[in-house]
Amino acid sequence: MWNFHRDPQEVYYRAVQESKNRIQAEKDAAFQRRLTEKRRIARLPNCPKCGEKCEYNLPQCESCEQELVWAEYLIGIPGDENRLHQQLSLDERKYHKRRTKRREIRRRFAARESRWASQRLIVFIVLLVIAVIGFAMLWPKMKLYLPDISFD
Ligand SMILES: [Zn+2]
Repeated sequence: MWNFHRDPQEVYYRAVQESKNRIQAEKDAAFQRRLTEKRRIARLPNCPKCGEKCEYNLPQCESCEQELVWAEYLIGIPGDENRLHQQLSLDERKYHKRRTKRREIRRRFAARESRWASQRLIVFIVLLVIAVIGFAMLWPKMKLYLPDISFD
């Protein structure tokens, strides 16, 4: 009723188009979700016995029923606990080392930036001084071309 003055063909066409767009958007979202899930599964650790992917903290493998032990994200079989914890602290040390390195690089970069900024300032001041001196030296000559205004 509210659109009886519009072309019914056009209204129909628009409705069809909108529903097509909605279906396509839903398809895209579903595809994205599947992709995210696929990537998550690809990153899961493998069972040490059969090599299947295992969800974190599962007490046993879902495909071969091997009992599992975990140290955070590291997987093993009972008896591996010590090795896993050694590996974990090794990983942590490596991570801290990398983080320190990244911070050092950032700090050096910031220092270089501020050095550049002060160098730019010095160049600007030097050019300004040269311009002022040049202007003062040329002033007597420039006066010749200016209109002669006297107030007396
Ligand atoms: Zn398994």
